[in-house]
Amino acid sequence: MKEFNAVFRNIDGIDEYPLDQVIYRSLVDDNLLEVVHDTQALQQKSPQEWKDLFAQRRNSFAPEDMSGVWSKREWVLPQIAAEDIITLQEGWNPLFNADVLAKELDLGSLRVKLSGNSHTGSFKDLGMTVLVSQVNKMIKQDKAIKAVACASTGDTSAALAAYCAKAGIPSIVFLPAGKISTAQLIQPIANGSIVLALDTDFDGCMEIVRQVTADESIYLANSMNSLRVEGQKTIAPEIAQEMGWEVPDTVVIPGGNLGNVSALAKGFQQCMDLGLTDRMPRIIVAQAQKANPFYQAFERSFDELKPVQAQKTLASAIQIGNPVSYPKAVKAVQETNGLVIDVSEEELANAAHRADRTGLYSCPHTGVALAALFKLREQNQIQKDENVVLISTAHGLKFTEFKVAYHDKKLAEIESKFANPVHYSPAEIGSVMDTLNRAFKQ
Ligand SMILES: *Cc1c(COP(=O)(O)O)cnc(C)c1O
Repeated sequence: MKEFNAVFRNIDGIDEYPLDQVIYRSLVDDNLLEVVHDTQALQQKSPQEWKDLFAQRRNSFAPEDMSGVWSKREWVLPQIAAEDIITLQEGWNPLFNADVLAKELDLGSLRVKLSGNSHTGSFKDLGMTVLVSQVNKMIKQDKAIKAVACASTGDTSAALAAYCAKAGIPSIVFLPAGKISTAQLIQPIANGSIVLALDTDFDGCMEIVRQVTADESIYLANSMNSLRVEGQKTIAPEIAQEMGWEVPDTVVIPGGNLGNVSALAKGFQQCMDLGLTDRMPRIIVAQAQKANPFYQAFERSFDELKPVQAQKTLASAIQIGNPVSYPKAVKAVQETNGLVIDVSEEELANAAHRADRTGLYSCPHTGVALAALFKLREQNQIQKDENVVLISTAHGLKFTEFKVAYHDKKLAEIESKFANPVHYSPAEIGSVMDTLNRAFKQ
């Protein structure tokens, strides 16, 4: 039996490095790296054996089995011992059956993967458990790593801080001052990170963290670090498993730095390579018009990435003008016959709150994906009867300011079509009944 194994490999296939090395880009040509698994070793198990194993782990209470990420551990980090894993029971997030919206849109089915229903409230937990576990292992092997650092639009920093606190590893986060929500700011503070609010945007923070982590003693946790993709990609086999190893026709996902869409494609590809599924879904990436370099490149047939100055958007976690995972994301869209679309601030805000009326509780980024879905369905680019999965990336509770302002109709230049303002009334039965009667008539 061949042992399961994985390495970092340059995306153009030239050079390779062990996973225990502190490295983020190729030393040959500065390209992105990806984690590559020994597929032949994984193929020693039949598709049915993998399915049985994953089904069996769903019934186990071992900590590494209860995590959606580590229940697929041979596909993720095959060489880590259970005692080195730092898990907060990430993954196995609800797959919300949005049947009401599906009916309104005349879709075969619509499911929303609520990856924000997790420890720190966003899908970033899926990747961070892998990165911090690997760092934990390296520190135990006496690698001189003092701390882990990231630049963040708010959710990466929250995840990094929580996993590092659990592991007892110091963390440093660089945030664009005044550009993230209160909930996002307080999370790394609470978990004891060193928090630096810089007077710049995300791309500016990224520049600084690159320099800080040039020295190997501070480890870089941004998504150019391909370890995170390994955790995030488990969303694909998880969705397939939840759908009885069927693949949806289309997946809609919001994109900023484009790590998550790369991860999604990689996960579905791995399911196919190992024979658990028989096709890829079409992958649709949604961006905010205010920060849409990927959409612009798509419109130019992906000639090249032209970084933009990202403008302020309600979808603050994807306010990114120079996405690091661009080459991987292009591959994901091209190879699945997918497409990229952008949406306005008004579209994303109304889409989020339209969906809320059917029981969801949507963050603005999920609003971007929902607005894309509504638009593409209207244009018939997503067809009647398709089975669609939409990736919800964060919990709405992290974006209370956005939701309050929407319902108070205080979002600049946005007509809140689904606003549901509070009715203020004296505590007196006559006025209350009048108010209720008016409300029923509306
Ligand atoms: C990080 C993030 C995204 C974007 O993911 P990328 O990998 O940067 O494309 C979308 N939504 C939320 C809530 C996020 O935190």
